[in-house]
Amino acid sequence: MTSEQAKNIEPDLLDHTIDTLSIVKLRQVFKTICKISPEARKQAEKLLLASENKEDGKLVPHDNNEQGESAKQPVPRFTFCENCEKEFDVTTNSSTSCRYHTMEDEPDECLYEDNPTNTYDPDSREAREEFPEFFTFKCCGRTREEDQPGCAVGWHKELDGEKPSKRARVGYSNLAYA
Ligand SMILES: [Zn+2]
Ligand SMILES: [Zn+2]
Repeated sequence: MTSEQAKNIEPDLLDHTIDTLSIVKLRQVFKTICKISPEARKQAEKLLLASENKEDGKLVPHDNNEQGESAKQPVPRFTFCENCEKEFDVTTNSSTSCRYHTMEDEPDECLYEDNPTNTYDPDSREAREEFPEFFTFKCCGRTREEDQPGCAVGWHKELDGEKPSKRARVGYSNLAYA
């Protein structure tokens, strides 16, 4: 092996390892890096935390150089939306960021009559994934297949507490089901 090759292999191996590491281990490593490197910690705070801008009170990526009496307590930069149940960045939230349905969807009668699902409940996540054309949103009468993102537009609304429940109204394919 030439020294040229050796140089090329290492970054690839590290990338591959990061891609395949378990989330638990990845969190441990990330915290360790933030502990041992002040620069890494600073960057992580900017990428993961937000604080209010002094001029207009808008949330911006946290800058830990701004200290003193006027400095506000930072908040998490990423959180889940109550309406679309997706994860969003609070520093880029706007009046057009969120697409969602204002009411829930329900399975059409034919799913019960013919029961093409056979093995699982027609009113389930599995059925929604397999037969999106048979689920109609009560708000707009559109099916899950026709208008998956939603009929209403607005701000993402911060969800109180933890991750969204498994009862996802929309955007289920983007959710990290626990
Ligand atoms: Zn709708
Ligand atoms: Zn949203």
